[in-house]
Amino acid sequence: MGSSFPREASGTQVASASTSTSTSPRARRPSIAIAGAGFSGAVIAHELANAGCDVQVFESRAHIAGNCHTERDADTGILLHAYGPHIFHTSNPRVWDYVRRFDEFIPFTNRVKAITGGRVYSLPVNLLTINQFFGTTLDPRDAQAFLAAKAEPGIGEPHTFEAQALRFMGRELYEAFFSSYTEKQWGRHPSELPASVLRRLPLRFNYDDNYYASTWQSMPRHGYTAIIGKMLDHPNIRVHLGQRFTREMRTGYAQVFFSGPIDAWFGHVEGRLGYRTLDFTAERHDGDFQGNSVINYCDNSVPWTRIAEHKHFAPWETHQRTVIFREHSRDCGPDDTPYYPIRLAQEKSLLAHYVEMASAERGVCFVGRLGTYRYLDMHLTIAEALDVAHRYRAAMQRGETLPAFVVNPLSS
Ligand code: UDP
Repeated sequence: MGSSFPREASGTQVASASTSTSTSPRARRPSIAIAGAGFSGAVIAHELANAGCDVQVFESRAHIAGNCHTERDADTGILLHAYGPHIFHTSNPRVWDYVRRFDEFIPFTNRVKAITGGRVYSLPVNLLTINQFFGTTLDPRDAQAFLAAKAEPGIGEPHTFEAQALRFMGRELYEAFFSSYTEKQWGRHPSELPASVLRRLPLRFNYDDNYYASTWQSMPRHGYTAIIGKMLDHPNIRVHLGQRFTREMRTGYAQVFFSGPIDAWFGHVEGRLGYRTLDFTAERHDGDFQGNSVINYCDNSVPWTRIAEHKHFAPWETHQRTVIFREHSRDCGPDDTPYYPIRLAQEKSLLAHYVEMASAERGVCFVGRLGTYRYLDMHLTIAEALDVAHRYRAAMQRGETLPAFVVNPLSS
């Protein structure tokens, strides 16, 4: 370890992540400041604490775990995904091994249902969806030829969501499952959105209705907040809940890792990057409300995008009552919680300004979904956070500094 590393923390001012609400930094000047106690911040904090750094984590909310936060419902005892469904999936063995250090992961396959035109289908689009939708009994090869014949002519390499859909599934499936849902979700026409948004979903010519194509897919038995609590429960880590970390606070730290919104770091001087936020309307019922964890509502006559029934995310538990969240999407205002970065041309040119400003900062590394303004799933966030921590340690050993970004936010 390089000489510029902080000395070992004495461990006398240990604060448990799940219980700390301290707002006063410890007397001795800490070396690492981390803004945000989501997966990015917690993984970096844990790794650098293990490396002997003294880590201060500042979290503006009253709880850890960011938008992955899970909590038991006081009425029913059901584990709620407070900011909407988070299903863990990854094909990265490093990430899979890592997360299982912090909880037991119970196999879970996300099988989404979708309602369109008054009928229920399975998503992602698979052979059952195709055969039920078109009233056919096609086998995989015929289904492929059938959809290929529906591809709109004249579409080369698709760049937009709409072009991607019309190119690979044709107009009927696109209009039934994607066009209205996407307008509700993003508040933009699919012809304005990038093809990458649709490419998140597989299109299958067999009966596999697994929503994800990852090697591993599981749910943590005790939820994500328990995992992040364990990551942060370390003698070298102190968590400050309800405290927003700002640019003015960076003095005296050897390194800052900022997982808040990149534009907020600069006080939004160039303008605000656009996000979609979500509103959840919770309802409690007896028994089983919808028989599945997630049902999407693809018609524009229904204002919500989907309904999540939380007890189905933990099928190993038994509950007589049930809690559902109806999910509505809208543009994110200054006081709302940001969820989905919009990343259209206007936002990307604004982002380019902030990336340039960030690159001129010294000793600040921007990480995670908000820090890099990218549509990142949990497993990618964790992989990048591990990489950032590793690079920081390597950079310190060589006496070098960490760049502002480990992944260029403009590249994807
Ligand atoms: N989508 C859709 N209809 C659906 C499900 C998804 O149009 O029933 C579109 C929508 O634009 C969404 C994108 O596909 O943003 C990616 O879906 P995913 O399930 O990955 O969205 P997330 O769970 O991240 O909200």
